[in-house]
Amino acid sequence: GLANLIARFRPGEVSDKQREAQYSFTPNDIRRAIINRELVLHHQPKVTTHSGVMRGVEALVRWQHPELGLVPPSNFIPMAEEAGIIDELTDWVLETALKQLRDWHARGLTISVAVNLSAKSLSTPDLADRIAAVTSRIGIEPKYLLLEITETAVMSDLALSLGTLARLRLKGFGLGIDDFGTGFSSMQQLSRIPFTELKIDRSLVHGASEKPHLHVMLQSTIEMGKKLHLTTVAEGVENPSDWQLIRLLGCDVAQGFYVSKPVPGDALAGWLKQGTQH
Ligand code: C2E
Ligand code: CA
Ligand code: CA
Ligand code: CA
Repeated sequence: GLANLIARFRPGEVSDKQREAQYSFTPNDIRRAIINRELVLHHQPKVTTHSGVMRGVEALVRWQHPELGLVPPSNFIPMAEEAGIIDELTDWVLETALKQLRDWHARGLTISVAVNLSAKSLSTPDLADRIAAVTSRIGIEPKYLLLEITETAVMSDLALSLGTLARLRLKGFGLGIDDFGTGFSSMQQLSRIPFTELKIDRSLVHGASEKPHLHVMLQSTIEMGKKLHLTTVAEGVENPSDWQLIRLLGCDVAQGFYVSKPVPGDALAGWLKQGTQH
């Protein structure tokens, strides 16, 4: 119950980035959450900087906890990874995101959906086959599903993840490198992995219009993405200055609170009326 949860409340280890409380859930809490259908997906639009058209969304998991309310992923994903149940969670996210996508497609919104993969999953030998199986079962073409993997996850064991990533790409899925700019990968390393999208971390994007050193790093990152023929995506676009700068620097796609916060699937109905151009 709630008292028990409060007793397990750990005020420490709260990063600046997430001021939310940290709860120590057990693996069984998370398993039950999946079984009891307490997980929900919110979707954040990714729009072209050129015309503001939504090309896709990123699916982000939350836990609709009966007592605690909406628990952010940072409070339970690391535990799911440690406890070895991240694959169950990923399967739920994939299935739910793809069904939502099928519904949008049926209503004429021909967008793509991005799902986050944990570093741990990349070493699972059958990951690419599992993703291909669920995608075909739900009836979605692989080009509409993009898998996002963080820069640090990929680079921590490149040899191990390269096989899975190559198989996913060969099957026609999109591959995004997430939180780019927080690690130290070189252009040469990047060019060895069949990515289709470069997602530039918020720490390089937000505030770059006022800070010259960020401006330079953002500019060279966008240039590198273009040289590698990747779709460049700026994360954490929070205000008009961020938006104007990434447009000026030729970044292809924007994602951030300035465009929209992550919202439940139904809330994207407004975008439906607007339609998409292809
Ligand atoms: P991420 O993949 O980098 O996702 C973007 C995060 O930035 C989201 O936080 C989003 O709400 C937040 N964000 C978006 N625009 C802005 C902005 O303009 N300003 C600021 N300050 N933040 C913005 P969220 O939803 O709390 O997710 C946090 C992280 O949890 C994600 O970071 C991702 O690494 C992980 N995550 C979320 N869903 C899943 C999932 O289904 N599976 C796995 N393995 N990880 C997930
Ligand atoms: Ca992501
Ligand atoms: Ca990110
Ligand atoms: Ca992140």
